[in-house]
This record gives sequence, structure tokens and C-alpha cells, in this order.
Amino acid sequence: MLSNDELGLWDRESFFHPSTNLGQFARGEAPQRIVTGGEGVHITDRDGNRLLDGFAGLYCVNVGYGRQEIAEAIAEQARELAYYHAYAGNGSEVAITLAKMVMDRAPEGMARVYFGLGGSDANETNVKLVWYYNNIRGLPQKKKIISRWRGYHGSGLMTGSLTGLELFHKKFDLPLAQVIHTEAPYYFRRKDAGMTEEDFSAHCAEQLEQLIVAEGPDTIAAFIGEPVLGTGGIVPPPKGYWDAIQKVLARHDILLIADEVVTGFGRLGSMFGSDHYGIKPDLITCAKGLTSAYAPLSATIVGQRVWDVLMQGTDENGVFGHGWTYSAHPIGAAAGVANLKLIDELGLVANAGEVGAYLNAEMTKVLGDHPNVGEVRGEGMLCAVELVENRDTRAFFDPSAGVGGKAVAAMLKRGVIARAMPQGDIIGFAPPLCLTRSEADTIVSVTAEAVREVLGG
Ligand code: PLP
Repeated sequence: MLSNDELGLWDRESFFHPSTNLGQFARGEAPQRIVTGGEGVHITDRDGNRLLDGFAGLYCVNVGYGRQEIAEAIAEQARELAYYHAYAGNGSEVAITLAKMVMDRAPEGMARVYFGLGGSDANETNVKLVWYYNNIRGLPQKKKIISRWRGYHGSGLMTGSLTGLELFHKKFDLPLAQVIHTEAPYYFRRKDAGMTEEDFSAHCAEQLEQLIVAEGPDTIAAFIGEPVLGTGGIVPPPKGYWDAIQKVLARHDILLIADEVVTGFGRLGSMFGSDHYGIKPDLITCAKGLTSAYAPLSATIVGQRVWDVLMQGTDENGVFGHGWTYSAHPIGAAAGVANLKLIDELGLVANAGEVGAYLNAEMTKVLGDHPNVGEVRGEGMLCAVELVENRDTRAFFDPSAGVGGKAVAAMLKRGVIARAMPQGDIIGFAPPLCLTRSEADTIVSVTAEAVREVLGG
């Protein structure tokens, strides 16, 4: 057994952490947390802290921590068959079972599911499918992908390009040339111009159409978007947004990829965000909620019109040259099957809707009138508090003041984890879907105390 100090040192000296300030971490200037356990909505760390995880890890531990049903399913699968590949028609009972369960829950019009490992690789798969689709249709020039500023779709070469956050581009020579970005459906700052939500949705659709026309519709293959913007600030779409966007895409023969890595499997109080907002996607990206992060697994759900062309493509060209060693990994699939069963048994989709609405309503009641709260917004079990310097003009704080980060640190001192979202002073919440009302009350009261500590009021 390592002493805690040794572990801490090894961490600073050996471990390259993702999305971390590397120099500060190595020098011991940035915080370190070594997590040792979890139960329900709480985690414990090596220093003996018990923290309410208001972000479910990275919006992924949807069923909560410590679920023995999933742990047992993983262990049993590891004993029985830890691995066999899925290439060339091979498979495992558990992966086939999960495929059937996903398709039973998928929105209408979906034909097949492909399993990968995480959200980033699932979106890489999506882009390859889209390119292949247009090559088979004899449209080799129709390849560009439109994403939104503030969108988050991963941090690979292509998926980091799709992501519309500067942090993921700067110094990495991204975005790649095949990716272009359009306006984010971020209504908060537009109220100033006297725009209604519907006006703003129409404006976003116009911006999209202008971009398509300027680039040439015959060069645009697909549009990708999260039903609710996640990492870009937890921003539900303004009224009428998805309807207006889909009309533009249909006019120009452009595929729609719904990135449901966060929203898939219940977070909005509906099984899929696409059903929640009347989105009719051609491809759906899933990851996080598919296994509640008990094992890595992603899913690309392929709609019928794309699937038909993929089959035509392999009839003409032979084997589909795409796959990972760990595609449909039996251990991930076992976690997925146990997780989806648990979501049903515990009624977690409904709970996400009910307790999520309560969390949002209480947060609005307690903080909605604070002079530095510009907006409390959310949908289902997603909630955000956007802090501003001036509530009337919606002027932001100087980013260097780090107000959002300070508020989140003040919450941590009080035992609640929230996430300082990277784009603005936004306190983000995405708790496990099993959150109770009394746990929601704790999140709200701690948020209010922290905001008052940092900003007064
Ligand atoms: N898509 C969305 C909407 C996400 O929120 C994320 C991760 O947060 C990803 C894709 C990337 O998933 P991963 O980190 O598993 O690669």
C-alpha cells in the first residue's frame, strides 16, 4: 500500500493528465485530487473528503457510483469471455444483446449501431461514414462538415476540429480545413437586440444558410450539433431552433449528426435528446450514458438512408475498412446491458425529468435575482448559472478574474462538485440521474452560499 504522499508525488512526476495545465500541475501549483471511492451521488478522496458530485464525473456516471449490478456484470463477463473481436462478422452474445437494446430505444428511422470506445472516436467514425456515403453516391466534392461555435465533439484531430472552443484549437493547428463553424444557439446575449427566441432561431438558420451558400451546397456533407450545447456552457436551444435548422439542411441535401454523448440515455428526461426536440438525425453519437462510464464504450447509431448507401458501398467495393480492435468490447457491452437495465428498473429517465426540473426551478428561485446572475438555464438533469458583471447590460466579467472558477472552488470547500465551464463564468451542473430532491436542495444552497461568498449580494 502506498502512502498518500508517495502517491501524490508519483502523480506529479509521472502522470500526464488530460485537459490540465501541465506546468502548474507538475510544480504542485494546480490542485490534485485522488479519488478513492464512490457511492450514489458521492465520491470520496484520499484526504477523507466526501463530495456530492454535481457533475457525475464528466456528465457520465448517470446511474451513480457503486452500482454492484454493473460491477458484477463486468466481472462475470471478464471471467466468461473478456475479449473477442467483432471484425468480419464475429461477435459476442453480450454485444449483440446491447445492440438490440440500443436499437429498441433509438429514435425512429435508425438502422444499425456501431460500437467504439468513447465520444471522440464515435464522432471520427461519423465523419468517415459521411465521407464514404457521399463517395458512394458519386458526390466526392461534398465533404465539409459544419459545426457550431461552442459545440463540443471531442479532442481528436477531426473531432477537436468539430469542437468550437478555442482552447481545443490553439497551438494544435486545428481546425482542419474540412470543418467550418457557424453561430452558436446562445440566446442569452441576444436579448439585448430585442430578439425573441424564435427570431434568434431564425437568425441562426439564416446564418447557416448563408454559410452553406457561400461555401457551395455541393461541398457540404453534414451538420453536427448537440441537442443541448454542453461543454460550451450548458445552453438549451432557443425555441424553434432545431426545426429551423433542419429545414435548411433538408434544402441542401445535408446530413444531420446529433451528438448525444451527453443527452443520450436519459439526461434530458427523455431517452434521447433527438426525441425531446423533434430532431430527425441521420447519425447519432452516444457514449457516456451508454455505460454510465463503468467501462469505456461508445455507439454510432446509423439512420436508414445512410445505412442503405453503406451496404451499396460494400457490395461495390468489398469489406468496410473501418474498425478498432476494441470495437464492441464485451466488457464495455456487459456494462452497457447492466446499465440500461438499471436505468429502466430505477425509472431514471423520468427521475431526470422530475428532479432536474426541480433543481432548475429551485436554482432560479434562490439565485435568479442575484445581481451577478445573468441567467439560470437548463433542461432535464442539466443546469447552469451564468455569472455576469452587470445583470442589466449582461456584461461579462474580465475572464482573467476567474470568477466562475472561484465560485466552483467555494462550492468544493462546502462539499459539492460543480464544473467551471470553459467558455465564460458559467457554473455547470449535470448530476447523476438518480439525484434526489434533498440532494438537489444541497446543490442549490451550496451554490447560493458560494456565489455570495465570491460576489456578495
Ligand atoms: N461529444 C460530446 C457532446 C461530449 O460532451 C464529449 C465529451 O465530453 C464528446 C463528444 C467526446 O467524448 P469523449 O471524451 O468520450 O471522447
